[in-house]
Amino acid sequence: MSYYIEPAPIKDKENPFESMMFRFDEAARIIGLDDEVYNVLKSPARQVIVSLPVTMDNGKIEVFTGYRVVHSTVLGPSKGGIRYDMDVTLDEVKALAAWMTWKCAVVDIPYGGAKGGIICNPRKMSAGELERLTRAYTSALVDVFGPDRDIPAPDMGTGPREMAWIMDEFSKAQGKTVNAVITGKPLVLGGSLGRTEATGRGVMISAMSAMSKMNMNPIKSTCAIQGFGNVGSHAAILLASRGLKVCGISDHTGAFWNDNGIDVEAAVQYRLENNGLLEGFTGAERISNDELLEAKVDILVPAAIEDVITKNNAHRIKAKLIVEGANGPTGAKADKILYDNEITVVPDILANAGGVTVSYFEWIQNRLGYKWTAERVNRRSDRIMKSAFEKVHQTAVKYDISYRLAAYVIAIQKVADTYRYRGGY
Ligand code: GLU
Repeated sequence: MSYYIEPAPIKDKENPFESMMFRFDEAARIIGLDDEVYNVLKSPARQVIVSLPVTMDNGKIEVFTGYRVVHSTVLGPSKGGIRYDMDVTLDEVKALAAWMTWKCAVVDIPYGGAKGGIICNPRKMSAGELERLTRAYTSALVDVFGPDRDIPAPDMGTGPREMAWIMDEFSKAQGKTVNAVITGKPLVLGGSLGRTEATGRGVMISAMSAMSKMNMNPIKSTCAIQGFGNVGSHAAILLASRGLKVCGISDHTGAFWNDNGIDVEAAVQYRLENNGLLEGFTGAERISNDELLEAKVDILVPAAIEDVITKNNAHRIKAKLIVEGANGPTGAKADKILYDNEITVVPDILANAGGVTVSYFEWIQNRLGYKWTAERVNRRSDRIMKSAFEKVHQTAVKYDISYRLAAYVIAIQKVADTYRYRGGY
């Protein structure tokens, strides 16, 4: 089996860690960050690699590789999801961990950043295999995780089911129930109302905020959404509910287009009944993934994976506004092309921060032993998203820079200031 082998880098793809560092360097220059603090903030605090032997259903033992990178704990316990995917690499997890630090700082929640990943193909594994793998990973990282240390959450390939296993395995090791060790749990285990929709909802709030700055009328605007998982599907429903016409959607099985607007609820329902896949959906015509990204729409929401907008296709993007539901969907080399073409980009570390914001609310509720209503969760997360957007907008105007750089400027400034107060050795 090839579970041990790291996938070869795809040609022309940017290394996500280098993409992150490129923006970090630019923002550090703008705020005049001194070399000492620069060196502290660029280095992940902790990188753990674990080998996870798991008995597969056929009785054979497979060894999986898992990672947990804690980028920073300057602002508080580190926070970030766990990804199950064959393309997971240490560099990817390092970039994603740093993005979590900047994301939490942009929305002003008291967390540092971390990320985890396991090289595996969850679509090809049984529930039993996934449970054993998840428990093995938790057990290997029991000294890293903790409600005041490092708090994981879902990411690509994981969801409430995996979070429940992690909570249970961690709790067993502590000899007591510790539900605040992880967020994105099922509701009955202390999950928060609104957490499932939270990232998509934040994408919608970010899109609405940007449209208002750009004098775009939602009722007259069209959009295409790449990725129809938890983020993309909820963003599609919520954008459609605000009057936008969702003309294009896609998942890894293909892309779909309808000039008159796709019935998003029907697509969600279809996917539910079709093993989580859009393949075979008849409410739209088939187009290629490139056609979807380059379609003539007002708004493009990349909500799948990293590095889909690159130096090779950025000049063909026709949307006026890009709202990044995924982490790192735009490579650093594409930033300048989009900026020169006057395409506004609401960057990942702002646009998809609704998820970690409601994770923060889940953690608060667990610690209080109290449940908030969905109305309270949504009202508070909308307020956080809107005020973070406004701050990014004002910083972009002040320095005459893109929203992306402005978000990095705010985040790095905040973490650097906090670090100076806390001090080192
Ligand atoms: N994986 C999500 C993200 O990238 C959520 C992280 C969290 O809730 O801690 O933002």
